[in-house]
Amino acid sequence: MNSSIKDIVNFKSEFFTSKILKAIVILVTVKLMNAKLIGFTPNPEKLPAMAAKLTHSKTKPEDLDKSSDKELKTILEYVMKLGHTSVVEHTCFTFAISDVSRSLTHQLVRHRIASYAQQSQRYVNLNEPNYVIPPTIEKDKKMKKAYEETMDVIWKQYNKLLEMNIPAEDSRYVLPNATCTNIVVTMNARSLINFFELRCCLHAQWEIRKLANKMLQEVKKIAPTIFKNAGPPCKTRHVCPERKKDCPLYPK
Ligand SMILES: Cc1cc2nc3c(=O)[nH]c(=O)nc-3n(C[C@H](O)[C@H](O)[C@H](O)COP(=O)(O)OP(=O)(O)OC[C@H]3O[C@@H](n4cnc5c(N)ncnc54)[C@H](O)[C@@H]3O)c2cc1C
Repeated sequence: MNSSIKDIVNFKSEFFTSKILKAIVILVTVKLMNAKLIGFTPNPEKLPAMAAKLTHSKTKPEDLDKSSDKELKTILEYVMKLGHTSVVEHTCFTFAISDVSRSLTHQLVRHRIASYAQQSQRYVNLNEPNYVIPPTIEKDKKMKKAYEETMDVIWKQYNKLLEMNIPAEDSRYVLPNATCTNIVVTMNARSLINFFELRCCLHAQWEIRKLANKMLQEVKKIAPTIFKNAGPPCKTRHVCPERKKDCPLYPK
């Protein structure tokens, strides 16, 4: 091969290798929210149905599991329709949620009828920039660049504080709402229904809405009767407490 052809081949292979590397780097950097159902109460629908049957039955609670599956399903459908949802508090779901922003988790933990464990900003090394980019910024090249540059400056300052022996618990004060975090949440089914009402609504903030919709999809697979009508109030009750008449889902 003469040298000019060799140069072209080398240039092309370097060019494609750098493109592939760049794509890999982007894939690694772009954080994708994950919401994995990692645990739930065994017999998630049978248990609350037994509890519901107990309220109107002379049968001892320990004998209720002898009831037929068909009867228990009918009872559960009936109480769900009536809105007597205290019985579904007997069923809990645990989610592992990763690569979401602190902005999201701040909203999530406002839901008090739940249990949480969140990655610590004191004990975990956060020296690499790791943040969520909102879609409104992501779609605009110029805006995204400015946003990323801001994040770089923030993380540089954060690392500088750590280097100056400022403890992580204080250095983290400069980190933004966009900072990625991981959290484990356990909610009972009744609390989840309330969470879906508030957070699947188009009026909810986009990131927590995305999370709520992912979680709803997961629990529907496990407990279809409990979550049959779960979702925003326009879907469940044909009302819009927000009175957002310009919303495409506003009940007609
Ligand atoms: C679109 C949207 C915008 C929001 N904006 C803001 C905002 O600007 N500022 C702000 O501070 N918050 C805001 N919130 C948060 C909101 O006010 C609630 O704190 C949050 O949604 C948790 O809901 P929750 O209290 O129903 O859930 P949970 O805390 O899980 O409670 C579930 C239910 O239990 C009952 N309950 C729980 N604790 C008590 C108690 N102490 N006393 C009586 N009953 C109780 C209530 O019936 C409650 O609905 C917003 C929420 C949404 C969805």
